[in-house]
Amino acid sequence: MNPVADITLDADALRELAGSFRGELIRPDDPAYDEHRRVWNGSIDRFPALIVRCRGASDVVAAVRFARDSGLPVAVRGGGHSFPGLSVCDGGIVIDLAPMRAIAVDAEGRTARVQAGVLWGELDAATQQHGLATTGGIVTHTGVAGLTLGGGIGWLQRRFGMTIDNLLAVELVTAGGDVVRASDEENAELFWGVRGAGGNLGIVTEFTFRLNPVGPEVVAGPVFWPIEQSPKLLRFYRDWIADAPDELMTIVLHRKAPAVDWVPRDLHGQLVVGIACCYAGPVEDGERVLRPLKAFGTPVLDLCKPKPYVEHQGMFDPSFPHGRWYYVRACDVAALSDEVIDITVEHSSRIRSPLTSFPIWQQGGALARVDEGATAFNGRAAGHTFNIVGITETWAL
Ligand SMILES: Cc1cc2nc3c(=O)[nH]c(=O)nc-3n(C[C@H](O)[C@H](O)[C@H](O)COP(=O)(O)OP(=O)(O)OC[C@H]3O[C@@H](n4cnc5c(N)ncnc54)[C@H](O)[C@@H]3O)c2cc1C
Repeated sequence: MNPVADITLDADALRELAGSFRGELIRPDDPAYDEHRRVWNGSIDRFPALIVRCRGASDVVAAVRFARDSGLPVAVRGGGHSFPGLSVCDGGIVIDLAPMRAIAVDAEGRTARVQAGVLWGELDAATQQHGLATTGGIVTHTGVAGLTLGGGIGWLQRRFGMTIDNLLAVELVTAGGDVVRASDEENAELFWGVRGAGGNLGIVTEFTFRLNPVGPEVVAGPVFWPIEQSPKLLRFYRDWIADAPDELMTIVLHRKAPAVDWVPRDLHGQLVVGIACCYAGPVEDGERVLRPLKAFGTPVLDLCKPKPYVEHQGMFDPSFPHGRWYYVRACDVAALSDEVIDITVEHSSRIRSPLTSFPIWQQGGALARVDEGATAFNGRAAGHTFNIVGITETWAL
């Protein structure tokens, strides 16, 4: 049942909002309501009283003022990929930034100004036209906004730092409806908080990022082994990455081999351990650094090779489509001790779902050299970040 049936919005206030608003106002009786209340995680099913689809900062200001006067709860939506569905609420107002999709790349100055509705695939495509990139998420349909405001980890983090380490400035609408800029020079305390705890401090309408030379070709992709080889592989991996250059970033994956185009059919559904890599430096160096890993044990599939960075960025998209049911937990460990490895392998061997995956992110490098107190993000000293991503097609297994 639709729980917003008996919420009445002030008709005069709504008329006033509609008068100057450039975007769309979507009510529960609008044919587009269901499309716009849905978020990426199919297990989230909420019914806002109003969805305010903004086209620019002035729309966001109007939306914030309207929402404040209404007294209703507010959710802010960038790419809509919050695992617990924080970008949509029951009976309140969703301030949806998805229509704000402008990107302006200054190739010479190596910066990009990015509106808050942009997705990572769009930003990577625009910056890679100039052989540049900033550290971004590893699935192209994730929002730049939410990912940046939470810190931002990705394939380039060990070489260039986290996404927030490449953030130069933001334009933000405060809860009072004022538009302010924040950077190291202007509203520096606000800028400190935005980098890691950003979702709580206002609505960011535009981000300015530093860009770095990347690719366009990088050596990247996963190598897979049967899960039985995992205990030895993880011990080898621990020693191999001990002296890894910052250019190398890896993610260990335990899962059933996914039924996607790039996995041979006979492997679909088999429990495997994979090490996905990206070497953000010259291709010849990447091939040399990755040689020992590729020679370990008996891989069943080796897809780690020179390819365009944007192709690598899109590789995991098919494993995380919109609409499936997702539940994630995460934790950090200092090191892959024998005990951590044994527990990891034991639990990975029990994975039943063909969709569930268990990525372990290699940390360190440039991200760890930023002072822990320099931004609101906490956890730079971790050796590895564990994600446990439980996935089903629907509520029923
Ligand atoms: C498939 C997938 C892959 C991912 N990969 C990575 C990864 O590689 N690296 C990584 O670090 N994280 C990753 N994440 C986690 C991701 O960073 C968070 O889920 C992030 O919040 C998503 O941002 P969004 O804009 O898409 O989400 P939304 O759901 O739109 O927003 C997330 C949160 O940020 C708030 N918010 C959104 N926009 C703004 C804004 N402009 N101003 C203020 N608050 C705002 C929302 O209110 C909400 O609380 C991934 C998540 C998914 C689902």
